Amino acid sequence: MVARAYHPSGKSAPGALIKLVLLAMVAGVAIGAVESIVSKYVVNLVLIFPLLIGMVVGGVATRQIKTGKIRAPGSAALLACLGALVGQATIHYVDYLLWRNQVVQEIRADTEAARANPEVGAEEKAELAQITPEQQLDGFLELKYGRGGFLGYLQLAAESGVSISRAGHSVGEDSDPTLTGSGVYTLWGLEFLLAAGVAFFMAYSRARHPFCEICDAWYDRTVAIAVGNGQKQPVKDLIKTIEAADWSAMLAPATLGEPTKGLSSVVLVERCATCEEHEPLLSVKVVRQTGKGKAQTSERYRTMIRTDEMRAIAKILDQQAAAEQVAADAQATASADARS
Ligand SMILES: [Zn+2]
Repeated sequence: MVARAYHPSGKSAPGALIKLVLLAMVAGVAIGAVESIVSKYVVNLVLIFPLLIGMVVGGVATRQIKTGKIRAPGSAALLACLGALVGQATIHYVDYLLWRNQVVQEIRADTEAARANPEVGAEEKAELAQITPEQQLDGFLELKYGRGGFLGYLQLAAESGVSISRAGHSVGEDSDPTLTGSGVYTLWGLEFLLAAGVAFFMAYSRARHPFCEICDAWYDRTVAIAVGNGQKQPVKDLIKTIEAADWSAMLAPATLGEPTKGLSSVVLVERCATCEEHEPLLSVKVVRQTGKGKAQTSERYRTMIRTDEMRAIAKILDQQAAAEQVAADAQATASADARS
């Protein structure tokens, strides 16, 4: 038997994808705005902030994928990606708004000082009265970069550069910037990719969770049906019995072997708890104890199994349990006899 992968159906609850993209974008805007403000007033952490955006948007997307029963990994991942990109764009946009607000105030103060200054001529004062600080600012950006507003600001920010220190980076600091021009654009691109990549990966892997199309529910039960030796060869032998669909051999103590200290193999069944008609997922994992209560799990094999195969496995497990019960009863009787 060749391992048979689980294929998501691509379906989702009505409206779940639209809700996903809306939630992802709202989350992106919220975390992006917070990060922009934190970076202005506290600290700006290069690469950590985009990671955080990806994780927050990915987390929100993951929840919606679960509740909205979204089994379309590609679409879910792309929509989550969009939320992360909106988050990164929000950082730049809020940076721009904060910068603009500050510069406009400075221009206003300058203008007022000039109008109050008796040395400034009446003609110049009249000129100053005709133009608002906002117009002055956009006029400057247009003159220098060909466009005002947000796009002009981005060019200004790239030109003034980004200083990367150990603590992070900040736009337009007094120290010499580490990156300028194309270097800044590359950094921004990298940040976009990072945020989008994390959100994409989180959403993609959640939407690939096995789902029972019969019960319209995620597989919600994972049962360890056997534990064995975690060394290379016994695990190989164990997988061979699964490939041969030899379930009694798979569950036989001779195949499984004894788990050693800190290293064991485990055979898991993921299934729908409600019905018997779905196809469970069978996997072999190796669990390595890495320290106090910590364990590292790696998957060695994974396949879907048919319902009749699951029934055969359940039957063998029942027989094993019954045999163990008989043995335990016999033991109890024997020790009771010995005492009397
Ligand atoms: Zn089911």
